[in-house]
Amino acid sequence: MIAQPEQQFDEAQEARRAFTANVSHELKTPLTVIAGYAELLKDGMVRPEDMAEISSVIYEEAGYMLSLVDDILTLSQLDEYIATDNTRAHAAPADLAAVASKVLARLEPFAKQNDIHCTLETVGDTTVTGIERLLTSVIYNLSENAIRYNTPGGSVHVKLEGLDSSVRLVVTDTGLGIAEEDQPRVFERFYRVDQAHSRHSGGTGLGLAIVKHGAQYHGASLLLKSEPDKGTQITVVFPR
Ligand code: ADP
Repeated sequence: MIAQPEQQFDEAQEARRAFTANVSHELKTPLTVIAGYAELLKDGMVRPEDMAEISSVIYEEAGYMLSLVDDILTLSQLDEYIATDNTRAHAAPADLAAVASKVLARLEPFAKQNDIHCTLETVGDTTVTGIERLLTSVIYNLSENAIRYNTPGGSVHVKLEGLDSSVRLVVTDTGLGIAEEDQPRVFERFYRVDQAHSRHSGGTGLGLAIVKHGAQYHGASLLLKSEPDKGTQITVVFPR
């Protein structure tokens, strides 16, 4: 059945309403923690021996808020590009191999902390036309998830393959995997399979939504293959 314009408008309105409600909730939680501890500090109610722990909670919650705001800005930029049909207006040649290499270097401390071994393999010319900042977000979010939802001693392999008319990006991990019933939902904004694991390791629930919209903006296809306790493989094929 083809959706009528009015129905599409209602759905867009509903999606926007749900997103705003989620964003407010997600921002309110860390702010409540920060405000609570700030009040204790202001009133001189913190014992010196608790100072270090309280500062580190405030620091972590503030860091989480920064990631969230960063992700929201990236998504709203993508929404804007897609809604105004601005496709390709800001695009320029970008080498995905160079992008992936920078991303993995940035994620190295996170991988080390989680005892995950990351490797990068590139074949052929991996240049596409796109927006480097958004391409970086796509590769960053896929690689970060592959590390975050992994088990100590596990691995992450990022492969880039230049083909005639496309560049294929494949991110494979040996991690927790995603159950079949969750697979269609993980690209939704704020959908998390395991709320606590995602939140505790700094996940915002927006990573795969950014990947999906980033792929859409670049006209790329997206494929998810996953098996619980075996691992996950996400493939993005960018047209040149
Ligand atoms: P988050 O910030 O929670 O990681 P994402 O949108 O990036 O949000 O991912 C949504 C959910 O999909 C995650 O909370 C996690 O449960 C699941 N997920 C994403 N990537 C992987 C992966 N590589 N392996 C297992 N589960 C994953």
